[in-house]
Amino acid sequence: MTADRQTILIIEDEKDIVMGLTDAFTFEGYEVHSAQNGEDGVALAQKTHPDLVILDLMLPGMNGYQVCGEIRRFDSAVPILILSARSQENDIIRGLEAGADDYVTKPFSIGELLARVRAMFRRMTHAAERRTSKVINVGDATVDMGSYSAKIGNRHEDLGFYAAAILQVLDEHRGEPVSRDDILDAVWGMDANPTNRTIDNFILKLRRVLEKNPAKPRHILTVYGQGYKLAR
Ligand code: CA
Repeated sequence: MTADRQTILIIEDEKDIVMGLTDAFTFEGYEVHSAQNGEDGVALAQKTHPDLVILDLMLPGMNGYQVCGEIRRFDSAVPILILSARSQENDIIRGLEAGADDYVTKPFSIGELLARVRAMFRRMTHAAERRTSKVINVGDATVDMGSYSAKIGNRHEDLGFYAAAILQVLDEHRGEPVSRDDILDAVWGMDANPTNRTIDNFILKLRRVLEKNPAKPRHILTVYGQGYKLAR
């Protein structure tokens, strides 16, 4: 842990939201930077190395997905939380595919967002303390739990914190189904209340990266009426 204040970068074009979030996070003790378009946001991320990025999807010019992809080119680890007015499944999945770690849909309360950000920081700290060279094997893929990245042959893919954390829970119960409620408890605890759909979206991402045929998974299985299971 460093004594420096944690830095949050907000990339959002709605001035009222930027002002509200800047006040709230500053009050909480975070250092806040903000950019009102994607290009400036990417430049600021590269320059200031924030500890967390809050990213709006609908931005003028470069959109949030592109911003996410650009940031991931030089920083594979910084947690990115997407803010989106679009609650549609496809947008959320696309955001997670682009390298985001979590999302909050507008309208949201500042309290909810603060809780989510605090929880993200807490989990990052726990993960860093626990960080080992542990790897989880899924078929031909190897997932490095230190960097949350998967290696499949010569291909490297970023899973992000939450997808990796869900995989870890499944691995701890390998061969047995784990209910979505148990996954929620293990990964999110009482901090935030993402829905079961959130878990389904991360499972889709895990399958997309780790399964040869994501539509016919052989490793990350759905057990009807019970939950998800990592095959032995
Ligand atoms: Ca916007």
